[in-house]
Amino acid sequence: TEACLTQIEGAGALNAFVHDTSDLAREQAAAADARVKAGDAPDLCGIPLGIKDLFCTKGVPSQAASGILEGFRPEYESTVTQNLFDAGAVMLGKLNMDEFAMGSSNETSVYGNVVNPWKVDARELTPGGSSGGSAAAVAADLCLGATGTDTGGSIRQPAAFTGITGIKPTYGRCSRWGIVAFASSLDQAGPMARTVRDCAIMLEAMCGHDPKDSTSADLPVPDFEAMLSGDIKGKVIGIPREYRMDGMPQEIETLWADGTAMLKDAGAEIRDISLPHTKYALPAYYVIAPAEASSNLARYDGVRYGHRSHLEQGDGITEMYEKTRAEGFGDEVKRRVMVGTYVLSAGFYDAYYNRARKVRTLIKRDFEQVFDAGVDAILTPATPSSAFGLGEMANADPVQMYLNDVFTVTVNLAGLPSISVPAGLDKQGLPLGLQLIGRPWEEGDLLNTAYALE
Ligand code: GLN
Repeated sequence: TEACLTQIEGAGALNAFVHDTSDLAREQAAAADARVKAGDAPDLCGIPLGIKDLFCTKGVPSQAASGILEGFRPEYESTVTQNLFDAGAVMLGKLNMDEFAMGSSNETSVYGNVVNPWKVDARELTPGGSSGGSAAAVAADLCLGATGTDTGGSIRQPAAFTGITGIKPTYGRCSRWGIVAFASSLDQAGPMARTVRDCAIMLEAMCGHDPKDSTSADLPVPDFEAMLSGDIKGKVIGIPREYRMDGMPQEIETLWADGTAMLKDAGAEIRDISLPHTKYALPAYYVIAPAEASSNLARYDGVRYGHRSHLEQGDGITEMYEKTRAEGFGDEVKRRVMVGTYVLSAGFYDAYYNRARKVRTLIKRDFEQVFDAGVDAILTPATPSSAFGLGEMANADPVQMYLNDVFTVTVNLAGLPSISVPAGLDKQGLPLGLQLIGRPWEEGDLLNTAYALE
């Protein structure tokens, strides 16, 4: 813990940590020491972690990187962080992210962008988003692991951009209780760490049934670490042809081919598969996610949480809502609220929202058919490129940024578990990631396949 706190102090330029909880960390670390001495050390005893600002942490600022939650200190602990603490983990601080987890570059944060510890010469790059602070902190050795959340790729894309590992479990594996909601039918928490083994250990501690989240699955949590044998003989790995997109950089093609060869050498059977509705995933996601966001964000009204605008004499409740929301939310969040409100409005509900929901069902069925036909896991690139420069996409058309999620959003729409593992460097020397997608509830198997790829 002390070593990490020293590292964090020296890494201010990355802007990864945004709320310091070093006093609490020292208390937790002392308690962990006492448990070790007493011979009662749980799995994560004394392990220093960073916590994404999206998680509500009792008495500690939890702002979802938004101005509207300024000053908000929850009176409760999220289930995931509580589970981690029960397993002995130490919280070093809260980590930067995109505002309300909306973004792919960590540039929508009220705290400013995070800098990727990987650089090309002096060019500063994005660590990805929305869990950009988590990814940068792990990659720069500021903590041994971090929590992330993934609604459309926010664990896997930043993991790929920073050369670390991140897993989004099956929807329902980790409780969403106490995690600030973005798109409730897509949001899942997961671990981000250096290795598959670290992710396995962290995930086991994080997940489990929680009656406080009605979508939490009442299933036993396997010993994920014990499942890491590296033996994948006879496993069937699907290579979806629809992910081979026009204009995909040669090095991403090569990375994918190399990963396929590695799994084959390890004894897996490689099978070409089709997921025909893949091309509709991004449009469906960018209807469903904003729709749910617009509803979830209606609660930020200047009364119940955080920020309230200064009001003029004569201002009524409507002015209070308007001014507070205009000031408190950033541009990307406002864009999503407007898109979401539009697609849910009486005249357009069927044309957009209902249609997107139907497309979502088709995407889910594509995966079901492939798994029913005996495929154990699906291998794809995690991202269409390595980390891009800060400002590069943020100043372009927002749709350019959305396109970065092309390989990751299908998984959230289908609720499946998926992991990104580091898979080498591109010609600029930047990390690239490979994505494995698994059957529902089979994170153990998925982690083991990733372990063979590591
Ligand atoms: N980049 C995607 C978005 O902006 C995904 C974000 C996420 O997974 N939280 O919606």
